[in-house]
Amino acid sequence: MQSNGGDPHLGPILISHDDLHSRIGALGAQITADYQGRPPLMVGVLKGAFVFMADLVRCIDLPVEVDFMAVSSYGSATKTSGVVRIVKDLDVDLTDRHVLLVEDIVDSGLTLSYLRKNLMARGPASLEVCALLAKQTEHDVDDEVRYVGFDIPDEFVVGYGLDVAERHRNLRDVRQYLTDDAT
Ligand code: 5GP
Repeated sequence: MQSNGGDPHLGPILISHDDLHSRIGALGAQITADYQGRPPLMVGVLKGAFVFMADLVRCIDLPVEVDFMAVSSYGSATKTSGVVRIVKDLDVDLTDRHVLLVEDIVDSGLTLSYLRKNLMARGPASLEVCALLAKQTEHDVDDEVRYVGFDIPDEFVVGYGLDVAERHRNLRDVRQYLTDDAT
C-alpha cells in the first residue's frame, strides 16, 4: 500500500521509481550519442531538478561538467506567473559551451522561456533542454525541449525532487497531489 506520509492530499503514483530509472537510462544513452566529441555543460535548475540531475549524469558516458542555478518564480502555490528571479547564478562562464539545461517539469513554459533567453545572452555554442516531465497543456513545448522524460496530464505532481511547499521532494516516485487550485 502507498503511504500518504500523513498528508491526505498525497495521491496515487503517476510514475514509479522503476519507470523513472529505465526512462532516465534511455535519455542518458541518447544524450551520450548526441554529444559525442562535445561533452555538455549540464545546468540543473534548483531545487526541483536535483534528484533527476543526479541520476541523469550517472547515465551519461561522457566527461560532463555540472553547474546549478536556482530560480524562484512568482505565482500561486501551484502555478507560475512567468516572472522569474535568479536566486543563485551559475559559477561558470557559458561562452562557447554546449549547454544542456536540466529542468524538473515544464508546465506553461514561462520559466523555461525566461531561462532560455537569459542563458542565450551569455554566448553558448549551443543550448538544449532536457525536462523530466512535460505537462500536456495547450502550450506545445516540443520545439523548445529536445529531451522529455515523460508527458504527463495537466495535474500537480510531487516527488523525485518536486515539492509542494518544500515537502515531498524525497519521495521515490512521482505522485499526484490533490490541490484546490491545481486544475
Ligand atoms: P512553468 O513556468 O513551465 O509554468 O512552470 C515551471 C515550474 O513550475 C517548474 O520548474 C516547477 O518548479 C513548477 N511546477 C510546475 N508544475 C508543477 C507540478 O506539477 N508540481 C510541482 N511540484 N511543481 C510544478
